[in-house]
Amino acid sequence: MNGTARHILIVGAGHAGGVAAATLRQAGFAGAVTLIGSEPYPPHERPPLSKELLAGAIPVEKTFLKPLAFYAENGIAFRPGETATAIDRAARRVELANGETVPYDLLLLTTGARARRLALPGADDRRVVYLRDIRDSLALRERLTGGPRIVVVGAGFIGLEAAAVARKRGAAVTVVEVQPAPLQRVCPTEIGDFMAALHRRNGVELRTGVALTAIEPDGDAVVLRTADGNAIAADVVLAGIGAQPNIELAQAAGLAVEDGVVTDEFGRTNDPHVFAAGDVTRHYNPLLGRKLRLEAWQNAQNQAIAVAKVMAGGDQPYAEVPWFWTDQYDVNLQIAGAPERWGTLVWRGGTGDKAFTVFGIEDGRPVAAITMNNGRDMRPARELIARRRTVDLARLADPKVKLQDLARES
Ligand SMILES: Cc1cc2nc3c(=O)[nH]c(=O)nc-3n(C[C@H](O)[C@H](O)[C@H](O)COP(=O)(O)OP(=O)(O)OC[C@H]3O[C@@H](n4cnc5c(N)ncnc54)[C@H](O)[C@@H]3O)c2cc1C
Repeated sequence: MNGTARHILIVGAGHAGGVAAATLRQAGFAGAVTLIGSEPYPPHERPPLSKELLAGAIPVEKTFLKPLAFYAENGIAFRPGETATAIDRAARRVELANGETVPYDLLLLTTGARARRLALPGADDRRVVYLRDIRDSLALRERLTGGPRIVVVGAGFIGLEAAAVARKRGAAVTVVEVQPAPLQRVCPTEIGDFMAALHRRNGVELRTGVALTAIEPDGDAVVLRTADGNAIAADVVLAGIGAQPNIELAQAAGLAVEDGVVTDEFGRTNDPHVFAAGDVTRHYNPLLGRKLRLEAWQNAQNQAIAVAKVMAGGDQPYAEVPWFWTDQYDVNLQIAGAPERWGTLVWRGGTGDKAFTVFGIEDGRPVAAITMNNGRDMRPARELIARRRTVDLARLADPKVKLQDLARES
């Protein structure tokens, strides 16, 4: 059936939506393709939004996946600034905010995620900002001029990346985190402590184990109240407390949703005419043997490619070891795998070294890895994880034994 679809409609023109549209054409899909997105920009990558774009090192256009002309040249009806408001699955059409309806044979949902909002008294103050899209990044960049006091709420990746850029731009930066160390959701404590030391060395005042209770206006600034009775003054407050998937369209249409649109490894939802890819999915990963939701460049890129090929008539599943990276100051941290807990750790080098790698082990098998300024270990580390076999842990811990050799042996 997929091979004969006449019109594929993609809702959400972010990273996954843009990649999917281009892939449909590369895969030889000759029917109509419509790409609808709420944002005014062509599909783009988000990693620079908390790094190079925020730092003012690149123009907005550098974030675009393709130049605007690409879409018309490839017969893709790209409609920026349009929001889908409902899916009529029985009639196979999508309603737009402007009252129009757009029919489809196959629908791809790539609606992504949005920044989770701070739920605190006073959090609606205009000095409280978020960082998800290009406009957020440009607005925050503006606010970082002139050495303001910025408080970053949440020591996750986006908050820490923004803190690093803000320091470089001369802002006075405080990071407030309720957990005892940064990155606790995704990294072992040792890595969180390493990142905490990195930020402190670069002049960030990092306060861990601190809960906020309220934000109060104070002239041109605000004061953040903490549960331990302290007050922190800020000209700007950046809330980096995670993202939530844009599932409302799917949910209202009766598609299966579990903190993400539920799909199989081919991107299929419980409706054979509706697919999903990117941050919005809770997809089955055959390598891990479970469903998961990811917020990562790799997933937006490669899941979108895999799902678009299936929609164009292919039959290959999306099955990759999850991978993520972050850049802060002179540190490049990469993570492979998505462990529910880190289990036993096996270190190749240590946090005192300039570069090192650490594996998370379950039942003698590597299930996750972190490379710190050691990206060349990433590919063999992912191979070791993908093999799901036990390894000799003493050899794994020996930096003289090449990971490539272990990956070949295991
Ligand atoms: C600031 C930032 C930095 C990041 N840095 C890294 C990094 O260093 N490394 C890494 O691996 N990952 C990083 N990521 C994660 C990665 O960029 C995301 O996982 C990726 O953008 C997800 O792509 P997506 O297409 O699924 O969603 P999105 O890019 O969010 O796109 C979804 C699009 O759908 C649109 N939309 C939603 N609802 C509707 C609707 N009803 N109608 C029409 N349009 C709609 C939205 O406006 C949006 O444009 C970062 C993310 C952010 C926000």
